[in-house]
Amino acid sequence: MPATPAWPPKSLPRLFVRSALAAGATVELDAGQANYLGNVMRLQHDDHVLLFDGASGEWLARITEAGKKRMTLQVEDPTREQEAVPDCWLAFAPVKRAQTDWLAEKATELGIARLLPVTTARTIVQRVKLERLQAIAIEAAEQCNRTSVPNIEEPQSLASFLKASDGRTLYFADERGGEPVASAFQPGPATILTGPEGGFTDEERAAIRSQPHAVPVSLGPRILRAETAALAALTAYMALAGDWR
Ligand code: SAM
Repeated sequence: MPATPAWPPKSLPRLFVRSALAAGATVELDAGQANYLGNVMRLQHDDHVLLFDGASGEWLARITEAGKKRMTLQVEDPTREQEAVPDCWLAFAPVKRAQTDWLAEKATELGIARLLPVTTARTIVQRVKLERLQAIAIEAAEQCNRTSVPNIEEPQSLASFLKASDGRTLYFADERGGEPVASAFQPGPATILTGPEGGFTDEERAAIRSQPHAVPVSLGPRILRAETAALAALTAYMALAGDWR
């Protein structure tokens, strides 16, 4: 997998759209996107933008109709192929809203494939606004040149998360100690699991550690805040086993 960053960024606005893209296809933008291109970016008829749908790469599209609340574009040529992000999922205990938003944005920038909110005994925040997190992830993907958008799953309990656990390596960030990530992280399908502000209970720790594919990992000698731990683990994964190598 190439480690070349997509730089310099293209100057054309980039938007994620839900309709499938192909040469010649017509795309209707929603009111928010039409407002952004027309009123914020001041784009007009015949101007170009870049579009991606999360599945078929990135495309150049031309504005064919620019109304006050509506905009139509015609898809022209492909500009980039669909990327393959590393097969890395982040299972995290949700924290306060601002910190969870930050985590969704930064994890998207770092190339996460899937985000799984997991509630634990000490999770304080019980409600996760999925639509909001999805919107944040889409905006981050638009901004950082991703052609994919991470899947964000419905929150689930730690017990059901562990029950559904398959053959993926489960890197469990354990503040009580584990293998240093430098030796633990290996390429291959992986899930990183991080806990809430209060950490995991002893019972939860034992249940996670008893999973056949669990690898307890340490993120160093300091206790990191929950969202810092999740981002630090993901950053280390990308550097050691993901697409920064
Ligand atoms: N209340 C816990 C304590 O004082 O021991 C700390 C929990 S920490 C704020 C939240 C989560 O971040 C932990 O459950 C763990 O998953 C992760 N974490 C924080 N620091 C870590 C470290 N040095 N190594 C591994 N995981 C860490």
